Amino acid sequence: MAFQTTRQKSPHPVGLATRCLQNLRRRDFLAGGALVDGHWVTGGERDLVIDPATGEEIADVARCAAAEMEVAIAAAERSFPAWRELLPARRGAILRSWASLMLEHAEELAILVTSEQGKPLAEARHEIAYGAGFLEWFAAEGERAYGETIPSHKVGSLLQVRMQPIGVAAAITPWNFPVAMITRKAGAALAAGCPIIVKPAPETPLSALALARLAEEAGFPPGVFQVLVGNPIELSAPLLKDRRIRALSFTGSTEVGRLLLEGAAESIKKVSLELGGHAPFLVFDDVDLEKAVKGAMAAKFATSGQDCLAANRIYVQRSIYSGFVDAFAAAMGQLKVGHGLEPATDIGPMTKLSVANKCRSHIDDAIKKGARAVSAKPGVSLGANFVAPTLLSEVTEDMLIAREETFGPVAAILPFDSEEEVIARANANEMGLAGYIYTDSLRRAMRLSEQIECGMLGINTASFTGPPIPFGGWKQSGLGREGSRHGLAEYMELKYVCFGDLAA
Ligand code: NAD
Repeated sequence: MAFQTTRQKSPHPVGLATRCLQNLRRRDFLAGGALVDGHWVTGGERDLVIDPATGEEIADVARCAAAEMEVAIAAAERSFPAWRELLPARRGAILRSWASLMLEHAEELAILVTSEQGKPLAEARHEIAYGAGFLEWFAAEGERAYGETIPSHKVGSLLQVRMQPIGVAAAITPWNFPVAMITRKAGAALAAGCPIIVKPAPETPLSALALARLAEEAGFPPGVFQVLVGNPIELSAPLLKDRRIRALSFTGSTEVGRLLLEGAAESIKKVSLELGGHAPFLVFDDVDLEKAVKGAMAAKFATSGQDCLAANRIYVQRSIYSGFVDAFAAAMGQLKVGHGLEPATDIGPMTKLSVANKCRSHIDDAIKKGARAVSAKPGVSLGANFVAPTLLSEVTEDMLIAREETFGPVAAILPFDSEEEVIARANANEMGLAGYIYTDSLRRAMRLSEQIECGMLGINTASFTGPPIPFGGWKQSGLGREGSRHGLAEYMELKYVCFGDLAA
């Protein structure tokens, strides 16, 4: 079964991804086998991998079934005691070796990411370095899983809190960051002492399976790190119902996150969810316009807009509104749209046709309700999965784009008058992942940073993610955190120990 069906005639270089993949030094990266209990499963039915820019078939991978997931769960459970008992420094050494292998093969991994996901090669290269960074960071953080000593409330007793690995973990990962979302989850779980089973998105299996090859070379024992590709519902069912899976981490849509939380209820497992965003980007009239436009461009168009941190609602104070819109349109006009493997490309295709269609429906809805649209590529046919960067001005709160996540290169710019008004509008949404505030007033920045309802906030910056920060959202944007010491804690249980009767 193929999960993408875009077979349009392409205006982009046909065969480019295939040629780049054929030139990979590591031919085994394309073997398309799943890693289960230390074995490569290559037989049985295969799923196609499609270049989203051209609709061409570029590879195929073995489709795992629920029975193979059962084997993986049993293998992970068997591997847990020995992995848990390894000294954290030893686990860290294997994680570091995995990170070094990723960096050694960074170019090949980046080509895999761009071929299957579509993002520009420069961004894919950045993702590999970013992804390896989580492994390095958690390699060290695993050695710092300190507990606590609590001043006692009981005479003659000593109170301790320890952190211990929770057990086998599972990760269901998305297609927008097919490498980094695996290492962010797996780095934390493995450093904590937990084996982990990864089910990547069916659109982007190649980079996940290449990571599995490198993990095997790094020296993870069989069952400690496994990757299975296949139908999401079939493969996630055993993960949800099995009580041996003690932690489940998911990144993707709020709708699927809700289904998984519901499915995990019977087996009572620790669930962390990194779901959609709808980030407000607030620009006040005391800022340097050029810096604010640069920040908004970065926050909107990274990963071709397919980023949960993307600025989905750009609120600009009315006195600078028209100047901001003009400068934004001019900057947007410089973006080059094309195949991610072509060197000058800034904006690639949407990985999924459904995402491109959602962008188009948001544009149509906004225009119908009175927004003004400026396209970076008016009248140019780019292919079904492409959306030309588009600016929508005079956007109002009743438009779809102001109410829900777009996940593509469409920038909605809304005017506002006062601070009170804009903070109320920014918070009047059920999503609460990220936010951005551009202002030169320190007092305003401090005031608003307290009032805005989101898990991550950039003040005068569009770039704030990385291994040491607690990544995650409020409200319908998720549960739990990834990265940072909080991310490690998602894979650990607390144990309170009371030593009593200590008086001599
Ligand atoms: P999705 O939630 O369907 O897919 C994400 C992951 O969930 C993939 O691994 C997919 O295979 C898996 N999945 C899908 N349905 C499942 C099910 N019923 N049971 C178990 N696993 C399942 O997301 P999508 O449809 O590919 O994208 C739709 C929207 O989701 C996007 O437009 C965006 O708003 C959001 N999204 C957010 C992120 C993020 O970084 N937070 C990533 C991807 C998608």
